[in-house]
Amino acid sequence: MSVHPNRRDFLTGAVASLAAAPPQKMIGIQVGAISFVDEGVEQVLDVFQQRASINTLFLATFTYGRGIAGRQVPGQPLPDHGRQEYDVDFHGGNYATLHPEYYKNTVLKDTRAPDHGKLDILAAVLPAAKKRGLKTICWFEDVFRKDTPNIEKLQERDLYGRNATTLCFNNPNVRNFWLGLVEDYTRSYDIDGLMWGSERQGALGNALGAKHGGASSDPGRITCFCEFCRRKAKAQGINLARVLQGYQALEQFVRDTRARKRPVDGAFVTFWRLLLRYPEILAWETLWNDSLRETYSAIYQKAKSIKPAVGVGWHIWHNNSFSPLYRAEQDLQELSKYSNFLKMVMYHNCGGERMAGYIDSVAGTLFADVPREELLEFEYRVMNYQERPYREIPATGLSADYVYRETKRAVEGAAGTKTQIWPGIDIDIPTGQKNSKSTPQGTKDAVLAAFRAGAHGVLLSRKYSEMRLANLSGAGEAIRELGLA
Ligand SMILES: [Zn+2]
Repeated sequence: MSVHPNRRDFLTGAVASLAAAPPQKMIGIQVGAISFVDEGVEQVLDVFQQRASINTLFLATFTYGRGIAGRQVPGQPLPDHGRQEYDVDFHGGNYATLHPEYYKNTVLKDTRAPDHGKLDILAAVLPAAKKRGLKTICWFEDVFRKDTPNIEKLQERDLYGRNATTLCFNNPNVRNFWLGLVEDYTRSYDIDGLMWGSERQGALGNALGAKHGGASSDPGRITCFCEFCRRKAKAQGINLARVLQGYQALEQFVRDTRARKRPVDGAFVTFWRLLLRYPEILAWETLWNDSLRETYSAIYQKAKSIKPAVGVGWHIWHNNSFSPLYRAEQDLQELSKYSNFLKMVMYHNCGGERMAGYIDSVAGTLFADVPREELLEFEYRVMNYQERPYREIPATGLSADYVYRETKRAVEGAAGTKTQIWPGIDIDIPTGQKNSKSTPQGTKDAVLAAFRAGAHGVLLSRKYSEMRLANLSGAGEAIRELGLA
């Protein structure tokens, strides 16, 4: 008599357990080339797997920003790993090999990052990652320098025709650059996905300073009013003269409210009067957002046309947690049409300082008549948060409940679609000297909250080179406790 279960029972059991097993959760981390250069490829991957059960690398392959590439921001304490000095000569660009055949239709050609000589970070990391069963996603963002050859031909133009430092989505040189980069990564390397991020907003949000740290924004430097945007607007029947008049009136409104010159009817009422008189303000704002979404869609179609299995998604800016206008523009049902996944930024620790910064800014413009403490309570009501008062949040950060609410909202916002929601989790994102700092427990609680709210994964952010190891382990503890390791 056999002691083994018969084959039929065994198969039934195997099928049943497969059916019951939940799909694997994405456990990702953002990492720049410098970490692999400083600490070694195998050593870094060991840390990721041992401390946080990472299964997906988000490799910063293109950016001119230190936020996701480079070492710790100078002035901030260096973490307990990596080289103990600041890379003050950080430059940025494309950290992979540039294949010129993909950049024929753009004048932006010289983007190779000079930071690490001839190192191709994808060629260096992909084989080691694959051997361990790790996925690799190219993580690239919409951040540029002013000194790249030909960059002035791609830059946005402000209300008065001056060049901005940002690039215009409607400029063919810009669109073709992004599509060339996407084609280069997708054809030249055996990657698993692409994540692009654009932490920007249109003219209306920028005029009002409706973002964290927006208090110093210049309402005359709003974008984009370049020839390509003007042509696109004309084709849609938008009256450009009225757009310019409307934004100049808005500029004056902001300069007045910031100077504490109270309009007769107060700031909020006067703003509405401006919108009623110049509905073109909204038409221009929507044109900018449509152009961003068209860029998302074009990147998605390009990648899928080359390799349908490549996952494509977006990093959605933290302003989604602060500005109701910006949140209204992030329509997840709309975005889901060209998104396999969305990394929704919900950085809880630096979120306190940033939320206070948002309030400081709009308390000088749109809500100039509302005291900051009251304005934050109103903000919590309309954005559906329950957090601490204005005076406390820079020193305490936002709570894990904020992460829970943001995740739940995103999952429900994308309900009925196949788009995965991957909350971006804050690990040691720099904050002011006296403001709250990440802790192992806080990081663990944020990860637990994200999964409790139904997240399909988590993305540890912003970059390994600024994370303290104990805080990374805090995320790992949550992942093991949930049985996701
Ligand atoms: Zn433009």
